[in-house]
Amino acid sequence: MLTYGLKRGTENELLHIGSVHNGLGCGCVCPHCKHKLIARNKGTKRIPHFAHARGAEDCGKGRMTALHMLAQQIIESGKKVMLPDYKGDYYQKTTELIEFDEVTLEKSTKLDDKLYRPDCVGIKYDDNNGEHRLWIEILVTHEVDANKTDSIRKKKQPCIEIDLSGMLGTEYTKESVTQRLVEGKEDRVWICCPYYDKKNEENKLKALQEEEENRREAEELMKKLMEEENTKLDEEYRKRIEALSKLKESGSQHQSETLNRQNNIATTSTYRDKHEPQFRPPVIPMEKMDGIIQAVHGKSINPANENYSAELAERFKKLWEMNQK
Ligand SMILES: [Zn+2]
Repeated sequence: MLTYGLKRGTENELLHIGSVHNGLGCGCVCPHCKHKLIARNKGTKRIPHFAHARGAEDCGKGRMTALHMLAQQIIESGKKVMLPDYKGDYYQKTTELIEFDEVTLEKSTKLDDKLYRPDCVGIKYDDNNGEHRLWIEILVTHEVDANKTDSIRKKKQPCIEIDLSGMLGTEYTKESVTQRLVEGKEDRVWICCPYYDKKNEENKLKALQEEEENRREAEELMKKLMEEENTKLDEEYRKRIEALSKLKESGSQHQSETLNRQNNIATTSTYRDKHEPQFRPPVIPMEKMDGIIQAVHGKSINPANENYSAELAERFKKLWEMNQK
């Protein structure tokens, strides 16, 4: 149901069905096709509404255009709107209300060598006679097209888009649309926000520098740790080599000890063998020679006796023993 009509002879003055005379006396045209409307606000079966007057088909777009116009009017007269959240990767800003010094509607504006007519432009003046313009696009059925978006972003023109398409199926009023525009936090996006983009870029740069710094620090730490580890390994290696050489040394010492011990035993046995008293042919002093000759050649030993050699050896031994004493 069309509940807002465009006051005949105006460009965007919308009148609610509740504020006009009944019938053709409402003085309104369709906001979209500009055809005459009749007000039906005295009915009992249907809620008050506008209808296209006899002779015109209902264009079916009156509600849509009326909502769009209503939003523009509200922004123009209220001079304020709730901004969208900014959600950069490195900078975030939650919604805030912005108030303008001036608002223009559908004013042809050259941007990127093309003419555009932003739905609304909110203008703020600063203390240095600077002028800041925010384009406000109202989405009811058509989003901001790609070419326009390209130009806006290329030229860094601040711009938001507020999506009111969800209200199209409701019995929207000036109050509900105002509430949505001024208090609503959803259904709006930044098409371009150079100010926050700049902050985002600055933060990004900072973050990247920090990352780089952290990376470098981590690298240095890793290098240091590796050097320490290498030193430890070197030390470990050195110790092992040392231990190994000691082991070898002690091993050879052990070997040489064993050898020495064996040598000692050999020496000892050789010595013992050498010094073990045993029978040797006696060295007979000259003064004892007469007696020895008598003893050796004793009358009792017959050289023809078969035991003569053994008897003789026995006598020699006794002689040697006598000589030892
Ligand atoms: Zn129409």
